[in-house]
Amino acid sequence: MKTAATFLTFILTLITLNGLAQYNVNNVQLPVMRDNQRTNIRIPHIDGFVTLKGDLHMHTVFSDGKVWPAIRVQEAWEEGLDVIAITDHLEYLPHKKYLTADHNASYELALAEAKKFNLLLVKGCEITRHMPPGHFNALFIKNANLLDQKKAEKVMDESHRQGGLLIWNHPGWQSQQPDTTKMFNIHRQLIKEGKLHGMEVANEEEWYPIVLQWCLDHQLAVMANSDIHEVTAHFYDFDNHHRFMTLLFAKERSLEGVKEAIKAARTVAWFGHQLAGPEVYLDKLFKASVTIGQPYRADDRKTEYFELTNHSDFRFDFVNKTPKNGAPEQFTLLPNSSIILKVKKGTKSFPCTLTNVHTGMHKNLQVQLR
Ligand SMILES: [Zn+2]
Ligand SMILES: [Zn+2]
Repeated sequence: MKTAATFLTFILTLITLNGLAQYNVNNVQLPVMRDNQRTNIRIPHIDGFVTLKGDLHMHTVFSDGKVWPAIRVQEAWEEGLDVIAITDHLEYLPHKKYLTADHNASYELALAEAKKFNLLLVKGCEITRHMPPGHFNALFIKNANLLDQKKAEKVMDESHRQGGLLIWNHPGWQSQQPDTTKMFNIHRQLIKEGKLHGMEVANEEEWYPIVLQWCLDHQLAVMANSDIHEVTAHFYDFDNHHRFMTLLFAKERSLEGVKEAIKAARTVAWFGHQLAGPEVYLDKLFKASVTIGQPYRADDRKTEYFELTNHSDFRFDFVNKTPKNGAPEQFTLLPNSSIILKVKKGTKSFPCTLTNVHTGMHKNLQVQLR
């Protein structure tokens, strides 16, 4: 009888222990966490250069942003970027009462995180003045504290002395240029002296066609940057869009490579399904992204079909310039997808305009489908 009771106790203990192993009443872990994954952006490398995805304008709590610097790095990694710059305002510090750190703090805090994620981090800051001259990013500077000076010209000289590159931010921002987007003497002077290296053709959620033309006319780097202040996922509609970014055609994936690409104006702006920049790079990006299949005949003897395949994350909006060939007047090739086009038999090649690929203020990339 005693043996049976001991055996029963033993069995009950086993059941209890087993139950406890499965269900600890003190700490129940639930599988609610998301996986941290990087979304790889499909953009071809062209011309022997590596195409780097960059966002060189963003804010943290160390100016008027809402996030800690390390979060900027984590976002950028998840969203497929290679290089970022945190560019907190030198002159506008609304959290100063709570954060007393100097102008290098956001870079230093982001750097530790950037190393963990193998992300390139450019040291920068935003010079924040009324128009003219407006707002500028100083990129590749060494010490942001030395740029905290009264006269804008002095700040730009100090950036130049440190080997920094100057980018004119959001030149068409309506708060500063309400009626028209124009260049002032100081901008012309900076260009003349070789002290301006690029301009933002697109910023946050807007773009400025005239600024594209200025960049092309003066061989300056075109840029699209997010200028993000909040969490990126709280701002951008990532189901349908990517964040604004600058594509850099670099000799290598390094900070030196990024700097050299900006100085050589080997960049393209990518924003809201639009591409803008020098024709030579946009043409190569298109040709490296899209393949055109051999024509095949389907239902009748008069019509041929061929497949157009997009291997990239770009979207291409076509206007057929010779609609008599039987192809639709307008058609869209979505990212990473194929469409079948119908043409009259014997159509060798036909010209199209890409309405979302901008090679000038009033100019779009022309392509031949053959
Ligand atoms: Zn700004
Ligand atoms: Zn900004």
